[in-house]
Amino acid sequence: MAKKLQEPEFVYVGGKLRPWREAVLHIGCEAVTRGLNVFEGIKGYWQIDGSFGVLLLRRHYDRLRRSAKLLHIPCQWTYEEFEAAIFELLGALAGPDRDMWIRTTLYVIEGHWGEGTVADLVLTAFHQDKSLPEAINLGISTWQRSSDTSLPARIKTSTNYQVARLAKIEGRAQGCEDMILLNQWGRVAEATGACVLMVRDNVVYTPPASEGALESITLAAVEALAESLGINFVRRPIDRTELLVADEIALCGTLSELTPVKSIAGQALPEKSPLLTSLQVRFFDAVRGVHPHPFIDMSVLPHSRHTTTR
Ligand code: PMP
Repeated sequence: MAKKLQEPEFVYVGGKLRPWREAVLHIGCEAVTRGLNVFEGIKGYWQIDGSFGVLLLRRHYDRLRRSAKLLHIPCQWTYEEFEAAIFELLGALAGPDRDMWIRTTLYVIEGHWGEGTVADLVLTAFHQDKSLPEAINLGISTWQRSSDTSLPARIKTSTNYQVARLAKIEGRAQGCEDMILLNQWGRVAEATGACVLMVRDNVVYTPPASEGALESITLAAVEALAESLGINFVRRPIDRTELLVADEIALCGTLSELTPVKSIAGQALPEKSPLLTSLQVRFFDAVRGVHPHPFIDMSVLPHSRHTTTR
């Protein structure tokens, strides 16, 4: 059965919380006609001490601003205003025992071909199960990641996900939960909504952003965790055939967290993935405050410890 999007009670739009059904855009605005927006997907986790923390919020704000700059979308929100808006929405929606995924989007609501551009900050938040990600089957798509001279992967905009959508449809027909997109040189760029980690001979490799991957915040966090664990972590181009003979593969991103891969292009991977499993354990210990790490900065939702129970 097709998955249905949750319909949370509130959306933050036009500077305040409104009921889900009232969060509408006009069909004439560039957000609709050209899919013009930039966005971030951000994760909030219940902490071991009973508070609710939003992961690496400052980095997400900074990347949102970079995406906006690259698409000439003005962003008038300060970090403090951005954080306050997120906290307002989470205060209304966060409930016990469920984590949250927050989408923060700058939709272009006024302007034409780059003149008179005005954006609105729209926030939606969805409940997430606290379970660990299950291992997936990963395919390799015939669709290609667009290049830095067409639609740069560095810009986190919805239009970049048209190709991802095609790859997902292609993958579904092959029994694959996610797909790798290769870049214009035929090397590994990333998955449809996550970066790729590959282990060969006890070294974790991932392609640099210049291979056509988003500048992933989770990846930077995992790199810092790997360093603390004494695991070699190298950013370098990855050939398609290297993936086929890899010892371990995982996807890495805000929503994927660290998702193990059990098969690649129809071939099973070795059952044990010791390096990526130890990184996954360390990651969840850090984001839940069980074993904090200096890189893993959590913005704590005010009063969350007292107003809600875990
Ligand atoms: N690549 C793509 C295409 C993505 O959509 C995401 C998820 N935002 C990532 C990589 C991982 O980035 P991050 O760790 O910042 O979520």
